[in-house]
Amino acid sequence: MLHIELQDKLFPTLKKYFGYDSFRDQQQSIVESVLSKNDNLVIMPTGGGKSICFQLPALLFEGLTLVISPLIALMKDQVDGLNANGISANFFNSSQESLEQTKIFEKVINKQIKLLYVAPESLSLLQNILTENYISCIAIDEAHCISSWGHDFRPSYQQLGFLKKVLPNTPIIALTATADKATRTDILEQLNISNATQFLSSFDRKNIELEVRPANDRVLQIIKFIRKKPHEAGIIYCLSRKSTEQLATKLQQNGISAVAYHAGLNFEERTKAQENFIYDKIQVVCATIAFGMGIDKSNVRWVIHYNMPKNIEGYYQEIGRCGRDGLPANALLFHSYADVIQLRKFMNGASNEEVQLAKLERMKQFSEATTCRRKILLSYFGELLSENCENCDVCKNPPQFFNGTIIAQKALSVISRLKEIEAVGTVIDVLRGAHNATILEKGYNQLKSHGVGSDISWRDWQQYIIQLINQGYCEIAFHKNNALQLTDFSKKVLFEKEVVELTKPIEVQEQKNVQT
Ligand code: ADP
Ligand code: ZN
Repeated sequence: MLHIELQDKLFPTLKKYFGYDSFRDQQQSIVESVLSKNDNLVIMPTGGGKSICFQLPALLFEGLTLVISPLIALMKDQVDGLNANGISANFFNSSQESLEQTKIFEKVINKQIKLLYVAPESLSLLQNILTENYISCIAIDEAHCISSWGHDFRPSYQQLGFLKKVLPNTPIIALTATADKATRTDILEQLNISNATQFLSSFDRKNIELEVRPANDRVLQIIKFIRKKPHEAGIIYCLSRKSTEQLATKLQQNGISAVAYHAGLNFEERTKAQENFIYDKIQVVCATIAFGMGIDKSNVRWVIHYNMPKNIEGYYQEIGRCGRDGLPANALLFHSYADVIQLRKFMNGASNEEVQLAKLERMKQFSEATTCRRKILLSYFGELLSENCENCDVCKNPPQFFNGTIIAQKALSVISRLKEIEAVGTVIDVLRGAHNATILEKGYNQLKSHGVGSDISWRDWQQYIIQLINQGYCEIAFHKNNALQLTDFSKKVLFEKEVVELTKPIEVQEQKNVQT
């Protein structure tokens, strides 16, 4: 039980320093647990309100709360924000002048600082204040960085286990938006806080409408999407720096106020982009995942993933940046096979390649789902929804299946005639009866099945073949030039009259006034 004196201070402190009248969800219990000097693990989605969980106790503890955070770039903003609220906070890093560092130490020793932000790399410089005389609490933000199971592993986080040994009676609060069980257990073990109280918040962000579309004519689709929301701010995540720039340019050419943001820009350019976005001077940021961590803009109305994220944690964290104010928001993901192949290549040879590939596979399954997407998403975080959400594309537009057996038979027989050595493009060319150079050179125009699928458009064939792959009727041999190959299931379709159900391809209508 929390001492009555402290208990009485919770609400007035919340009001005075943060301006809020009430706690959200579990915030109060977490604050009480920290003040009771328990160790705590807080799992809360991005935008859930993790900061209060350690900032408010920091104000009520006598000594310093040390905040370990991975991104030096964000510390200044956080500290500025706290100072603006009348809270004495600083950050500490190796690039500061020694005079400045000495000043900080003096303030700590005189108990004049409530919160000190530091990156794990700089902890060793703090040795002379790392005692329980000065330190009342340790907050470890983005705690998943400690685990190689997490999606953002940082070696510098792995040394943090020493904190519990040096400061055994100091409460630790570890916070993250990553919830899968393996990561959670790993965090507790590595921080030596296996008895920590765990606070798992609901990950459901009901106000965010989820949608996945095939990545055909992405730019066109994006322009149409934004034109329907002329005054709504949004973020578009791309995989590469180059594509953020190309996309921003295309949007600008179409009269949309957009900028690119990535780690290759210099500090001023990045700050300017951030500020313009935060203060509604530009509508759209085309960004790599470098953008968004720590950006406190509650009225981001939509997030688009131009490329597939590499796992569900990342995806969820990124879409979590829209609709923080609780009002309706949209998350649109473009699903592309090319992206999956690209991401697999990136993962090739990584130390935890297997984990990464498995996570990517889950992401792919989510993208291809024909059942409520929110259910799939939340089940990934260990949360089960009993009802469909009615706020995702699948719930709103349940797929209409039709008997696609003949379509499947045509595709699979072409794959077979091509001796399973050609990739999707050539398979479709043969289906459609193309007479281009490759087809003629290889004599594919002589095949009996050349042109059997000429009644179906190129784009529709592409989507049908993806569906066939998803259902296991054929597969891509990634190590053989992405050749389409048959599977055990193919035989059932070709020889055993198996019925194949397909859904109608999504139409992307052409629109005038769009430069792509
Ligand atoms: P997280 O770190 O979990 O992503 P933040 O701590 O940045 O989330 O909080 C997200 C937003 O919610 C911020 O704008 C913050 O001011 C707001 N917020 C947090 N707690 C409360 C509360 N009790 N009442 C109202 N707004 C809150
Ligand atoms: Zn749904």
